[in-house]
Formats: sequence, structure tokens, C-alpha cells
Amino acid sequence: MFIDSFGSMVFSEKVMKEVLSADSFRKLMKVRNEGMPMERPLADEVAEAMKNWAVEKGATHYTHWFQPMTGSTAEKHDAFLDRDRDGEPILELSGKALLKGESDASSFPSGGIRETFEARGYTVWDPTSDAFIREDTLCIPTSFGSYDGAVLDKKTPLLRSLETLNRQAVRLLRIYGEETRYVFSSVGLEQEYFLINKEDYAKRRDLILTERTLFGAPTPKGQVLDDHYYGTIRPRVKAFMKELDEELWKVGIYSKTEHNEVAPCQHEMAPVFARANIAIDENQLTMDIMKKVANRHGFVCLLHEKPFEGINGSGKHNNWSVSTAEGDNLLNPGKEPENNLRFLLFVTAVIKAVDDYQELLRVSVASAGNDHRLGGHEAPPAIISMYLGRKLRTVVDSIINGTDLKTAYAKSAKTEQNDDRNRTSPFAFTGNKFEFRMPGSSENVSCTNYILNTAVAESLKQFSDRLEKHAGKAELEDEIRKLVREELTAHERILFEGNGYSEEWVREAERRGLANIKSTPEAFAHYCDEKNVRLLTSHGILSREEIRARTVIGVSKYNNIINVEARTMLVMAEKDILPAAVKYGSEMAYGIESKQALGLDVEHETSILADINSHVKELAANNMRLKSVLDGQPADPEEAAMNAYRSILPVMNEERRIVDELELLLDKHSWPYPDYTDLLYYV
Ligand code: ADP
Ligand code: MG
Repeated sequence: MFIDSFGSMVFSEKVMKEVLSADSFRKLMKVRNEGMPMERPLADEVAEAMKNWAVEKGATHYTHWFQPMTGSTAEKHDAFLDRDRDGEPILELSGKALLKGESDASSFPSGGIRETFEARGYTVWDPTSDAFIREDTLCIPTSFGSYDGAVLDKKTPLLRSLETLNRQAVRLLRIYGEETRYVFSSVGLEQEYFLINKEDYAKRRDLILTERTLFGAPTPKGQVLDDHYYGTIRPRVKAFMKELDEELWKVGIYSKTEHNEVAPCQHEMAPVFARANIAIDENQLTMDIMKKVANRHGFVCLLHEKPFEGINGSGKHNNWSVSTAEGDNLLNPGKEPENNLRFLLFVTAVIKAVDDYQELLRVSVASAGNDHRLGGHEAPPAIISMYLGRKLRTVVDSIINGTDLKTAYAKSAKTEQNDDRNRTSPFAFTGNKFEFRMPGSSENVSCTNYILNTAVAESLKQFSDRLEKHAGKAELEDEIRKLVREELTAHERILFEGNGYSEEWVREAERRGLANIKSTPEAFAHYCDEKNVRLLTSHGILSREEIRARTVIGVSKYNNIINVEARTMLVMAEKDILPAAVKYGSEMAYGIESKQALGLDVEHETSILADINSHVKELAANNMRLKSVLDGQPADPEEAAMNAYRSILPVMNEERRIVDELELLLDKHSWPYPDYTDLLYYV
């Protein structure tokens, strides 16, 4: 049965219990769950056990598996093989090698801190995330930094944010009179993706170089019929999903839900949630496995946020909650949320966090790909607001207005289910967790989650600072209610239950003073806002220099993407599209000439030819314009990004308009690429 092989490639707690001494196992659990320091003898024992287990499973190599600022994962394989003192081959993994690895950091993006910090980097084991085997390699999840202590990866700030959230949540719970061993944020990531035919992909430079179609006239069908969403799954896709599940289950990922999404050939996979850093490790691994399994089924898996124009793009819904070690979900409202003070404190902390740090959350989802989604009437708008659902909103309103909770609540509860959904909201309460819907499908969501964790930790800290002196006293409950009421009143502006896609909301949000940040360069300009720097430095997540570096990395990546896309457009236009149109036009001209010689009517083809000709001229002229804006890019990365957004993108849009019109003027066989119907409606 499949369940027998579930997690067979994971060095899990169950395996650890079997292969470690009882004492070591207990110590390792303390390291994992309570952040106790790892001692060398323990590391040696764990490393030896891990190696033996991996070798038995057929592994020959090991790697520290980390998440540099590129957004993908990195690995450098070392064989277990070594020579012993007698010159004989042995298999070895020392505690030292498990704990820390050396790596040349110079080829990973550092955002300029390489000048001030050393180029050598090192990776450090994250004992909270299980090691696993892929192919012949034992992968050890690690964080990555420079020798001088600069953070160079996506994982380190996330781990730090979990610590600060734990500290602040445990502290607040204690004031409230509850003891827990630790608190962590849980994350469940719904991963959307497209599957297209490998042969079609291979014929399009834009897909190969940029993962999205830079040209392509719309299909007559598009997604207007909405017949794909939750539709029956094509047999070939079904076979892909089956193998994907098997691969994911082997590495211990609880892949659970699979269905067709809104767009043709768009699908989704959602696993069971896990502790934030583990969920993100698993998601990074899932994206990698999706690509590899797709390839074995004659598909290419596109994780880009917007592979096709005019058709929904892909996101990664970030379901988020906070739980105690004992398994208590702190965002569970229970039967009477109005009297559940613990719930009210935590939900208020999230509302305050999202309102206070809306720009930072927006930064965390900013990318060239995601810019095509946000605000595009298919995904949340670029404005961050929160949807609580009718039931919780009623409770919140009566708290703010000081009206009788029970009556108000009873009135609305009669007509409403608990978690009525608003799909247009970027940040929705869905029963016992929040769902943040802005992240793009290809994103490593560490940043989103360390910002969320840290911002909530900050709310909790402020609450504790205020409530501490009332701990254990009779007035505590009143003080909590007072605090909740004040905070909800102060942050009411972030709550919005209406249609997030509407024009009225844009105006209303502006009246409320909410941020509406439309593009990646504008978002990154807020990373270093004083309040954001204060938040991240005061909780020890990132230094000012590191935040600055992340800004440079973010905008540079944006610049590189726009640059590659624009240059790919140019190559396609010059090497494929213009030659095809010119050739087609010339053949037509010969045809027209011959027909005219016979005295036949040529009105139809003459007008098409004239249209093709004028498009060819327009395209040639636009190519010149595109080249000149590309050559005129300023050297400073932030200026360049703003310039790309304001000056290059409009010329690219114009390029696309001309080419898409031209596509409809040529006959199908003369067009050099598979068209949208070929790409989207394969069998
Ligand atoms: P949707 O209705 O948004 O499509 P899905 O069922 O596809 O919802 O996905 C919901 C996701 O939320 C799953 O990954 C699930 O494991 C996750 N989830 C459920 N409870 C929690 C929780 N307490 N914390 C974090 N994630 C959770
Ligand atoms: Mg969802």
C-alpha cells in the first residue's frame, strides 16, 4: 500500500527514535523543538546514524541543501567516500560536516554586502527540518550565511522570526495564565501550476527563456466557459499527478488535494500544513519535483505567475496560523469568539500586524511575474485589506461599537455560515487560519512568512508590555477587553468585506489611507522605510545593511527579468516573426500580381497585404524604440527598475500588440510558433 512507502526517504523522528540511543533522541528533540544548543558528541552520533540510514537506502552522496537569494534551492554534493588511515575506502559523515559546511558565496546574489563581508560562505544545519534522500543524495536542510555573519539566504530570517514569535506568544500566554512549551506558526501552501506539452514549449523561445509567452493572440475560447475549474482531469495529467503524489509522499510531503484550476491546463496541489520553515522547505522541494515529474510525462510544468495573457495566472496561497506545542490553534475562535479572550488577543494581533506592515507584506510578494497578476481582476488587488467573514466581523464590529455582543452576533449568525468566502480579498480569515493570497506561484515564501511572523510578534510584544502589570490580577480581563477594543478601532481601516476587484474599492482604500503599490520597483522602495527597518532590526531578523542588500537583490532581479524578456522579444521579432511576415507578404504579392494578370479581383488580399505591410513597418520601428530604451538604462539598480517599469514595459506592451495583431493576419502555417489554442487545448 502507498502508505507503507510514505516518508520512506525521510530521516524522520520515527527513524531517529529507532537508530539513536534513548538519551540522544531526547536531547535531539530538545534541540529541534526548544532551540537547545547542539553539542558535538550528539552531532557525531546523529551524523553517523544518518549516514548509515542513507547508505542503506542507496545514497552515495550528501549535500547541505540551502536557499540562497536566487529564490531557488542550491546543493553541492559530496560523496560519503573517504580514505582511512590504512588507505582503505570508508564511508563517512562527521558531526562537523553535518553541522556546518563551507561554500563559496561569491556567485550567489548578496546585494552588495559582499564588498563589506567576506566572500566565503557557510551553511548551518537546520535540525528542525528533516533530512531526506533524493536520487542518490542525502539532502540536509541548512541555512546559509557569510563568515562574517551576514545573512545570505531566505531561511535564516525565517528561523529567527519563528524564535521571536515563539518568545512573544509564550510571554503573552503566560500573562493570560497559560503555560506552553513553545508556539510556532503553521503554514499550508496551495501551489498552482500549468502543464503544457514539451514539444510546444521547445518551439517557443519565450517559454524557454522567460517561462511565459511574450506574444500570443487570444484564443476564441480563453477561459470564458469556466469549464476547467474542478473539471475532470485529463488522463495524461492524472498520470502526472499520481506520480507526483508518489514522489512527494516518499519524501514525507503530505500532498493532499489536487484539482484543475480556472485556466485551461492550470492545476493546483495543496499539502497538509506544517511548521512554517518545514512547509517552505517542502514547497521548494515540491516545485522541483513537479518540474522533474512533468518532464517524464512529456510535459513542462510552468510555475511562472503569468504564462499566458488574458488567462488567469498562478499564485501560492499562504495559509497561516499560530499553534502551541500541545496542538492548540490560537486562531481557533471556538463557539463564542466574543468571550474567547485568547483568540481575540491573537486575531487582533494579526489585524494590527497586517495594517501596520502592509507595505512590507506587499514587498514580500513583489516580483516581475507577480506584477502581471496583482490588480488584474483575477488575483487580489495590489491593496492589502483583510476579510474576516460575516460572523467574525459582527463580533469585531460590536466590540468596536461597544454594542451588545450577544444580540448582534445572534442576529447575524442566524443567516450566515461561519466561513463564507470572499475570493477577491488578499488576506482572508478562513475559519481558524488566515489565507494570504498575494504570493506568486514561483515565489519562495520565506520572506512573506518572516514578515508575517515578525509583525505579529511585534503586536504581541506591545500587548504584553501593556498587560504585564495586570497579570494574575482581577482587572486583567477588563484590561484585555479594553486593549482589544482600542486596537480594533485603530486598525478598522484594514478590514474590508466588499469586492476587492472593484474600482470603488480603489477609491475607498485611498480615502482610508491604505497603500496601493502597483509595481515591484515601487514596493521595494518601501523595504527600507524607517518603521520597517525598526521592526526587522529590533527583533533581530535582519540588519539595516541586510535589508538594503535585499532591496538591491530584489530590484536587480526585476531588472534582469525585464531585460531578458525585452531582448527575447527582439530576437523573436527579428529572427522569426518579421522574416515570416515578410515572406508571407511577398508570396501574397506574387499571387496578387498573377491574379491581376488574369483580370481577377484582388481587393481582399490586397487589403490584407497592406495591413501586414503596415504592421511590419510598425514592428520594425518599435524594435528600434525597444533597443534604444534598453540601451538607455541607468546604472543604479533602483533607478533602472523604475525606468524599466515606466519606460521599457510600455514599449514591450506595444511590441506585443503589434505582433498579436500580425499573428491574426498570417495563415496558421506561416506563423513560426504554436499558438494559444495549440498550447492550451492539447489532448
Ligand atoms: P482552499 O479552500 O483555499 O482551496 P485548500 O483546502 O485547498 O483550501 O487548502 C487549505 C490549506 O490550508 C491546506 O494546505 C491546509 O493544510 C491549510 N491549513 C489548514 N489548517 C491550517 C492551519 N491551522 N495553519 C496553516 N494552514 C492550515
Ligand atoms: Mg485557497
